[in-house]
Amino acid sequence: DYKPGGYHPAYKGEKYKDGRYVLVRKLGWGHFSTVWLAKDLEHHQHVAIKIVRSAKHYTETALDEIKLLKKISCNNLAHRGKKNVILLLDSFIHEGINGEHIVMVFEVLGENLLSLIKKYKHRGIPLIYVKQIAKQLLLALDFLHREVGIIHTDIKPENVLIELGDVEQIVRMVESMEKEKKEIRKLERKQSRSSSQLAASIPTSANSNGSSRNGRRSRRQTLIIGSQPLPSPINSPEFFNVSNNNSSSNNNSARVPSVPIISSNLASAKDSQEQLTNSLNSMSLSMEQSFVSASSTVLDDPMIPEDSETDSENIISVKFADLGNACWYDEHFTNDIQTRQYRSPEVILGGNWGCSADLWSLGCMLFELITGDYLFDPMKGHSYSKDDDHIAQIIELLGPFPTSLLNESRYTREYFNSRGDLRRISKLKPWGLKDVLIDKYKYSSTEAGEISDFLLPLLNINPALRSEAGGMVNHPWLSDALGLQNAVLERPVCGCGEDIPGWCSEVKGHPKH
Ligand code: ATP
Ligand code: MG
Ligand code: MG
Repeated sequence: DYKPGGYHPAYKGEKYKDGRYVLVRKLGWGHFSTVWLAKDLEHHQHVAIKIVRSAKHYTETALDEIKLLKKISCNNLAHRGKKNVILLLDSFIHEGINGEHIVMVFEVLGENLLSLIKKYKHRGIPLIYVKQIAKQLLLALDFLHREVGIIHTDIKPENVLIELGDVEQIVRMVESMEKEKKEIRKLERKQSRSSSQLAASIPTSANSNGSSRNGRRSRRQTLIIGSQPLPSPINSPEFFNVSNNNSSSNNNSARVPSVPIISSNLASAKDSQEQLTNSLNSMSLSMEQSFVSASSTVLDDPMIPEDSETDSENIISVKFADLGNACWYDEHFTNDIQTRQYRSPEVILGGNWGCSADLWSLGCMLFELITGDYLFDPMKGHSYSKDDDHIAQIIELLGPFPTSLLNESRYTREYFNSRGDLRRISKLKPWGLKDVLIDKYKYSSTEAGEISDFLLPLLNINPALRSEAGGMVNHPWLSDALGLQNAVLERPVCGCGEDIPGWCSEVKGHPKH
């Protein structure tokens, strides 16, 4: 992929835009681009730089992405959801050996929500966070749909990034970690020294950050990154990792625990050269995998604060990123939208779609945050396709497709016979959302009822009747979202977005951009 038309072979120290930006390290990559941390020498701050592949198709897509991002960033409206969408700071062309690359400059953000799902070992993220995330993303969608006229079309955990807090502080931590890493390597080379001498000379982040000797934190202890104290593991140092969008291959659970555990290993390994060497090896491995391992956080079991006295400060903050597939309410670039598991029924059926397609994806994603599992994960069988299975799963969970949707969609006949039954799958096993939450995820009937009352309006099979983002911000399930209790909009709860242009179909005519 690093050939003409492909990715630019960027490297640490490389200069961009006449020396204004200097690359520091890679942050991630995707199908379209590689993303780097860079120092902006003009504004004396760190930024994320997305360097797009140079082939024509990628350049054209990137130019659309920039147009959309500019509309978002230039929008002056004091909408509460604007800060939950990534901001474009700059864009330019970089001439490289593989061609001309569009470059976009963004604020630096942390890991994506898929990492968070993995960090909680696919057992679900605590509801206190899910509610904060849900409310912020609904605010962001209300802003995008109602104020800017943009549909994201690719809402999924990988495309929601967590805010880091004080980026400059974190970068300093990383740099000091790098120094430690070098020192460890030096020590490793001096294997002739006795293990006890070596153990005593290891600089431990645990000590410098004031964490307890055994590296475990109390339930109330939180690490402060910038002004945002968060319960572990959201604040864990690994939230500044190098990661890619296709991070299903990125097995976080296989990661070596971070520094403090290893520090305590070191203490107990005093007498064993072999154990010490192992500890050192895993410590440096851990640091290589992790961008920020400079803090004292242990990748502990998930912890939830016990009381709420400082809870208003425990705000996880998230932003929609990757507007690379987004479009306008009045100019859809393609009908081939949304990642499989988050694809809405109207898109599967080739029907009209609009802003409400984003709410379906959001509903699927929030279920995944709550439970750690996909809501729909269709598979191809011998006698049926992935789409057949997807439709069957939707019917089993949510009931039959509305006739209006069947009547107006292009591919209905492909999947349904004239009686309105699926052509290739006959035995459906209805299992409603509330029962799934009780039977499979062991929620109490009350909690399951509350969660499904919140999710079902987002998962209305009928795109016209699906609830719009602004109204869902006011939903009672989110009224106790920590730090966001006052975030309410003048929109009716569970109202559908009939007043939003392009709500369930493209507005035809002359696009205004
Ligand atoms: P896709 O294949 O999803 O279309 P893409 O090439 O458009 O990918 P992005 O999804 O925008 O690229 O970014 C790729 C990865 O880079 C993200 O998953 C994330 O890990 C990282 N990344 C992107 N933007 C930022 C940012 N502002 N701060 C930190 N990391 C970022
Ligand atoms: Mg992406
Ligand atoms: Mg993209």
